[in-house]
Amino acid sequence: MFIHGEWHAGSGAGEVEITNPSTGKVFASVPEADQADLDRAIDSAREGLEAWRNTQPRVRAQVLNRMAERIKERDQHFARIEADDTGASIGSGLWTIHDVVARRLEYYAGMADKIRGDTFVTPGQFLSYSMREPVGVTGHVIPWNGPLWIGSRSIAPALAAGNAVVVKPSSEAPLSLLEFAALAFECGLPPGVLNVVTGRGSSTGSAFVAHPGLDGIYFTGSTATGRRVTEAAAGRSVRTVMELGGKSPNIVMADADIEQALQGAAFAIFANAGQICVAGSRLLVQAPIHEQFVARLAEMASAIRLGGPDTDADMGPVITASQRDAVLAHIAAGRGEASLVTGGGTPQDDALEGGFFVEPTIFDDVPPDASIAREEIFGPVLAVTPFEDLDEAVAIANDTPFGLAAAVWTTDLLTAHRCAERLQAGQVFVNHYYTAAFEMSRTPYKASGHGVSEGPDAIWEYLQQKLVSIKTGESGGW
Ligand code: NAP
Repeated sequence: MFIHGEWHAGSGAGEVEITNPSTGKVFASVPEADQADLDRAIDSAREGLEAWRNTQPRVRAQVLNRMAERIKERDQHFARIEADDTGASIGSGLWTIHDVVARRLEYYAGMADKIRGDTFVTPGQFLSYSMREPVGVTGHVIPWNGPLWIGSRSIAPALAAGNAVVVKPSSEAPLSLLEFAALAFECGLPPGVLNVVTGRGSSTGSAFVAHPGLDGIYFTGSTATGRRVTEAAAGRSVRTVMELGGKSPNIVMADADIEQALQGAAFAIFANAGQICVAGSRLLVQAPIHEQFVARLAEMASAIRLGGPDTDADMGPVITASQRDAVLAHIAAGRGEASLVTGGGTPQDDALEGGFFVEPTIFDDVPPDASIAREEIFGPVLAVTPFEDLDEAVAIANDTPFGLAAAVWTTDLLTAHRCAERLQAGQVFVNHYYTAAFEMSRTPYKASGHGVSEGPDAIWEYLQQKLVSIKTGESGGW
């Protein structure tokens, strides 16, 4: 673990083995934090907080900018760690470091010295002003699908706003965030301001979110776990931001640019083997183009080459053997609900032996109430449903407990706007999938979470607002 600027072995005997999902081989282990370790990390953060919140904002910005520079210099190293830890390709790791992590650090470094309050004068009565202070010791719980991608989303604004951060990464993929904390320390972050505790969610994680020393909890993970964490936090009235699961609809209108929509639909579900919260896992295709579209998409899916990060593969493994088995169980349920068009199993290839690979899988004519259309699978499994008109598409798209993202492919501007207006999702993509606009804020709908992520408004999630009101006149209250 990384606590108070030092590596820490953990006070208990517990340990978690880290497995490379491309090979199925254990290659590292981390300690399982117990209550004493959590106390130590959170006490250290409380100490670090005092130093950091009193550090000049422009100096905080300098540290964040140094972190951005340093991680870019060590891009290969961090991409390698995430490749071994998660099965993601080196290319996507490099993109994450340069275009996501460094960019966010730079963005929030730019905000650090622009955080200010408001004033309001009631002539002859009051001078009122607001102050914005850090929330305090913030706890960040991070899943395994892109630890640096997701971790930097809350760590960067939290640090910029003067908070101390304690991270509990996933026990499946904790290594890059551990090294990130060490890098931050090298860049001048005072001891305790960024600590990382390791261990399983069921033990370390649940004790972490219940810890009375946390002033805010920033959780990314499944809706089921998120609900448990929200309940734990509600009991103590702790501030929470929840980024949870999704089952995002991807709507293709008959007037779409078909070639682009095909590329987009494949990317939306097969990138990172479908293990992306906003993956386009429900494809809604307008009836006139449905049959031909699915046939072409199935050809593309069956041509996808599977392999680890050191091959020229198009798609990697899922994270664990148990996640592979869960995906296969969803596929088995889907066989009784819809028509399997391609995939549906694990690849028979000696070169992939030991890895947790699942074939790119497409089901067609999926009824909107089928389990594979309603439950988040978090694997390379696509549920296709045909529709007649826009009203039906929007109704099917919104008939889900989730509301993370949605997309529409159309060449008609009015259709695009109507869809964007009516879709219940925190982000709507038109004629592309996955936004790169980190400079824009968003809030999930429904069971996909609450609170603001990214962009300028996210900074308020890491600040406490205080009103100061001074009586300046003779009249106007006691
Ligand atoms: P998960 O099982 O909910 O785990 C997320 C994190 O919570 C992990 O660090 C996990 O630790 C920890 N955890 C587990 N049980 C806990 C508990 N009782 N108390 C506190 N922490 C606990 O989710 P996952 O399977 O790792 O990740 C995939 C899910 O995350 C999907 O649903 C995906 O949609 C969602 N996600 C959402 C976003 C978004 O921005 N909305 C982004 C990425 C992923 P362990 O891993 O050690 O158990």
